[in-house]
Amino acid sequence: MQLLKDRILKDGVVKPGNVLKVDSFLNHQMDIAFINELGKEFKARFASQPITKILTIEASGIGIACIAAQYFHVPVVFAKKAQSINLDGEMYTSKIESFTHKKVYDVIISKKFLTPEDHVLIIDDFLANGCALIGLIDIVNKSGAVLEGAGIVIEKGFQSGGQRIRDMGVHLESLAIIDHMTDSEVCFR
Ligand code: 5GP
Repeated sequence: MQLLKDRILKDGVVKPGNVLKVDSFLNHQMDIAFINELGKEFKARFASQPITKILTIEASGIGIACIAAQYFHVPVVFAKKAQSINLDGEMYTSKIESFTHKKVYDVIISKKFLTPEDHVLIIDDFLANGCALIGLIDIVNKSGAVLEGAGIVIEKGFQSGGQRIRDMGVHLESLAIIDHMTDSEVCFR
């Protein structure tokens, strides 16, 4: 998506450790008119799927998912991160290793918000090694819902996540795929 690529080139900042900061427009300060265009693009890419729910993970995915959801006319459910939880029968849980914080989290979703009748689209801001997405896919599978696909704003194509998710047969749509990046440049696929 050219609009997104242009914005990354204009305002993205590459940090040590292969981290791209996009906090001036996507995941700290949020440019709503811009994110609205991302929402429309997700709708266009998943227009033929019978989506009943958008699933994301706190915190950065929530705003993006909510804006996109207005085009799908479905609720958003976000997985909550907890460092240690008391397992109980009313929750689906999965473990996720955070790329940016290098910690392992349990993510939890109340069983009442994901059921076998649901057709789920997962939305998130970044795809790096794929741990966050695989954790969410695990929860969708546990719930018996149908996974219709995953929409990612920025895929870091030089990390393993995209390949892992596509190899699982998931319909993955990334609005921008970074081929490689250095301190001074970001190159797209
Ligand atoms: P993964 O689980 O795919 O390794 O990482 C995905 C999660 O890590 C995303 O939800 C995002 O929050 C965070 N993340 C991964 N890479 C980056 C990055 O380069 N920049 C930012 N801002 N977040 C990232």
